[in-house]
Amino acid sequence: MSGRVEPMTTTHTRRTKSLFAVAIFALVAALIHFAIVAWQRTRLKTAGPVRVTAQPQQIWIEAGNAAQSLNFDFLVANKGNTPLAIDRIEVIAYDAADKPVLRRFIDSNGFAPSIDTVPGRTIAAGAQVLVFNPFHTFGPDIELHRLTYKFSLSIPQEEPEASATVTVEPRVYRSKTALSLPVRGKMLIHDGHDFYAHHRRLNTEHPVAKELGLGQNFMRYSLDINPTDEQFEPFANTGAKNQDWYAWGKELYATGDGIVLGAVAAEPDNIIGGENFFKSEDIKASPMKFYGNYVLIDHGNGEYSLLGHVQKGSLFVKVGDRVTRGQKVAKIGSSGSSNNPHVHYELRTGTELKAEGLPATFQGFLRHLGAKVVAVEAGSVDTGDMLESR
Ligand SMILES: [Zn+2]
Repeated sequence: MSGRVEPMTTTHTRRTKSLFAVAIFALVAALIHFAIVAWQRTRLKTAGPVRVTAQPQQIWIEAGNAAQSLNFDFLVANKGNTPLAIDRIEVIAYDAADKPVLRRFIDSNGFAPSIDTVPGRTIAAGAQVLVFNPFHTFGPDIELHRLTYKFSLSIPQEEPEASATVTVEPRVYRSKTALSLPVRGKMLIHDGHDFYAHHRRLNTEHPVAKELGLGQNFMRYSLDINPTDEQFEPFANTGAKNQDWYAWGKELYATGDGIVLGAVAAEPDNIIGGENFFKSEDIKASPMKFYGNYVLIDHGNGEYSLLGHVQKGSLFVKVGDRVTRGQKVAKIGSSGSSNNPHVHYELRTGTELKAEGLPATFQGFLRHLGAKVVAVEAGSVDTGDMLESR
């Protein structure tokens, strides 16, 4: 009997065991499935955190006649595990009493959304991008004691998920040095430091900038100045030769009193349509190669004037000389990173690549506005200005 029963019992036990195994398997499979779904969900929904910082640390207001200009940028870091796109940037300016003065934004609204003016605004997980500050110019009557910029970001094609704010406290900068323009006669500020100027658009996150160690923008307030003819044209004929340019060989003057810290004139001038001697890889070993030949003046108050692209062999001063404002120092050439004869001028905080640019206030020049000529006692100058200095 036991011989008959035993196999039955065994069969029954086996069936129970296999049913049990199937149930466990189904349960485990279901748990794994839900765990994956939940993990994917949390993974997709974990937007950010995001961190925004302003660059440089010290932010200046350049007080012009018609507007106040801010010249700083943002580093936006996506610290999360999924790509994020910047959808909206809003600024609120506050006065010294902490009351809001002005609010502005750019966002994704409309057929050609204003946020599209910010290039490369999708940030990969763990990456950082540089955003050129889209709110940089304010009326002269707006008190800019404190500004808060709010960035809203989302996972592309999903709802807004992350935001980050940064607050800055800019202050008006007035040059400590009594400065004059470095050339005489009529001149065009070919490219300065307005929002579109190439000096301003140094993307420190660009791979080449990283490779060259350009962590700050020492050119932030630079000016490319072209001496011109009476009609403010920078060259005669076609401009195909260095000699066609009114800048070529024009005398350069010390912008302010100080001591000559650097005076170099051994670099060859580039030839329009011919050889260009500037090699960007040279900057890595010797950053000043960017300017070619140059004169660097220490004004003795934390301000330094740099005159770049000086003509080969044209120095009137040497290192250690004490110079006074308006003293002849060199001639304009086209050395270093230059495509045509002009002078690159910058006021800066130091001599190294770590230096930042400073807004320059020049004294005693004429501003030509078509038929109108305005005498300026002291003021800033920027891209497109047609000026005259005597
Ligand atoms: Zn320049």
